[in-house]
Amino acid sequence: LLQAKGIKRTYGSLQVLKGIDLEVEKGEVVAIVGPSGAGKSTFLHILGTLDRPEEGQVFIENTNVFTQKDKDLARFRNEKIGFIFQFHNLLAEFTALENACMPAYIGGVMKEKEIISRGKELLDLLGLADRMDHLPSQLSGGEQQRVAVARALLNKPAIVLADEPSGNLDSHNALDLHQLFFKLRDEFGQTFIIVTHNEDLAEMADRRLVMQDGKMLL
Ligand code: ATP
Ligand code: MG
Repeated sequence: LLQAKGIKRTYGSLQVLKGIDLEVEKGEVVAIVGPSGAGKSTFLHILGTLDRPEEGQVFIENTNVFTQKDKDLARFRNEKIGFIFQFHNLLAEFTALENACMPAYIGGVMKEKEIISRGKELLDLLGLADRMDHLPSQLSGGEQQRVAVARALLNKPAIVLADEPSGNLDSHNALDLHQLFFKLRDEFGQTFIIVTHNEDLAEMADRRLVMQDGKMLL
């Protein structure tokens, strides 16, 4: 489903990614762990086509993603990839439900009614049934994080990339979220690549990869 080959990324004189290869099959849940500054977020942004590597290629469903024009790449990304950011990036002036529905409004394939019912369904699954009309500023950090999770899942993307998705959650909500990931994998064959410091999640995953100093150790 996804292949990354020889990914290199440099910021100024700092080489953050030193040639990373990764292959992920459909329906796999892959955890990436590693120390702060290892390049995990940088790598995930590249897999999510949000950032281009200086060297190397990413193939998703056999498409060489970075050879596409920007406009086509944006459409491809919106259709295929759900992104849960390390910092949730909700839009302050929109409610929880509107934030969750945002990818579908941008993509424009689903009908309005379908978008809203799916947004509500996801927020409900994530324990936010009574928070849908709240603005981000009226939600706790963990609630905001779960809105961002709903947003990432809204378009039923083939691949979900998550950067510390349970970083802001207490252990109870973290476990619920992790179980939701595995449930979605089992039901829809969705693929998850998750950067995490949560060892419970890393242990549950099909593979636990370690990144250190811009390289993948195993
Ligand atoms: P953490 O666990 O703390 O989130 P990480 O493994 O996700 O760490 P990255 O965010 O990928 O690490 O950063 C890797 C290195 O690249 C760090 O040294 C960081 O300071 C640097 N870096 C990241 N983004 C930029 C940028 N836009 N400009 C310059 N340097 C950057
Ligand atoms: Mg990071």
